[in-house]
Amino acid sequence: REYNEYFTMDETDVLDYAVTRLNVFDQDAKLACKEIGDGNLNYVFRIIDSASGKSLIIKQAGPVARISADIKVSTDRNRIESEILKLQNELAPGLVPQIYNYDPVMNCCVMEDLSDHDIMRKALLEHRQFPLFADHISTFMVNTLLLTSDVVMDHKAKKNLVKSFINPDLCEISEDLVYTEPFYDCPRNDIFEPTREFAQSFLWDDEALLLETAKLKFEFMNHAQSLLHGDLHSGSIFIKEDSTKIIDPEFAFYGPAGYDIGNVIAHLLFAYINADSVMENPAAREAQKAWLLSSMKDVINMFREKFLKMFQERATDRMARIPSFDQYYLNQIIQDTSAVTGLELIRRTLGLAHVKDITSIADADTRAYAEKLCLQMGKAFIMGRSGMLTGEDFIQVVANYI
Ligand code: ADP
Ligand code: MG
Ligand code: MG
Ligand code: MG
Repeated sequence: REYNEYFTMDETDVLDYAVTRLNVFDQDAKLACKEIGDGNLNYVFRIIDSASGKSLIIKQAGPVARISADIKVSTDRNRIESEILKLQNELAPGLVPQIYNYDPVMNCCVMEDLSDHDIMRKALLEHRQFPLFADHISTFMVNTLLLTSDVVMDHKAKKNLVKSFINPDLCEISEDLVYTEPFYDCPRNDIFEPTREFAQSFLWDDEALLLETAKLKFEFMNHAQSLLHGDLHSGSIFIKEDSTKIIDPEFAFYGPAGYDIGNVIAHLLFAYINADSVMENPAAREAQKAWLLSSMKDVINMFREKFLKMFQERATDRMARIPSFDQYYLNQIIQDTSAVTGLELIRRTLGLAHVKDITSIADADTRAYAEKLCLQMGKAFIMGRSGMLTGEDFIQVVANYI
């Protein structure tokens, strides 16, 4: 095969592709290839040479989403993912996988194999702790979000980045799945029946909440503040004790910086609710919850601290350097973070894409209670966002419910 025309590859194709198109394996390599994707959109292949121990990952974008053939998604997302991973590796060295090759015909990229790490959601479901996570993820977010903003970048260069990372299909997915469908009885929602009535009375009948959500949707669509990762949940994070690697930035586009931070907080909170719901040993449960709570607090407070420091060091815009603008700008980001935390808690409970932290709660009453907590805290983070400025403010919301 020549690979000069796009088709979706299977394991045999990818093996052949690796041998004939990539100049990385030895002549006497003993290669095996396995599809290991578990996401909603793409195909991920791992190729191992058992002779040398060398391995790599090939990720290919298909023309429709894996989660639903009705969702058509431009394969250009693989270009966006490859390009942004290279950029993020410059802005936040060591916190993303290396990209070795991008193939615009096959819509696939070749990247570093991170199989010595675990997907963070899985590790959190095993109730493991990662004391360095808050430090790593806050560095990643400050570096990628502040350094791609107009505060630091030449404004024309930034506008060119806005152009090259425009991603209409994936933006539409977020606009629909996060900002629209969970807020009415949309057929595409996936609602756990015991939760339906509460969703109706607590959210869908609450016009004040719907108005705030509408404001947030237009903010998401029209505020080209920072180059976002765009899908920064615990399934997009590889982790081990001393290392954190952020993967899967195909949703990247210019949007409000708080979008990424809010995703991180919401998914720590799902892990917290999971621990509270299923861990039987009280001491272990309280230890896990305490670590998750302090991680949420640290993510916000470390973000604040590193952001202000980098702002002082790197801001180039004359007006941005006017005293106190940095605080104003940061406070807005943290308020947006609160809103997105709330939106994510709601959309992962009612919308099309759920999280295992909640769906794996086997007892139906316990799960219904957990979902109710997600919706209650979700609304509190949205409606109370103007008062949310510090890590302490965030964990106070949690403490009000659990
Ligand atoms: P999708 O865009 O479909 O969600 P992901 O990039 O999240 O795809 O990858 C899906 C899965 O493939 C991950 O959960 C992980 O198990 C595996 N995977 C992805 N990238 C790598 C990598 N660089 N190294 C090892 N495994 C990976
Ligand atoms: Mg993914
Ligand atoms: Mg995944
Ligand atoms: Mg993805």
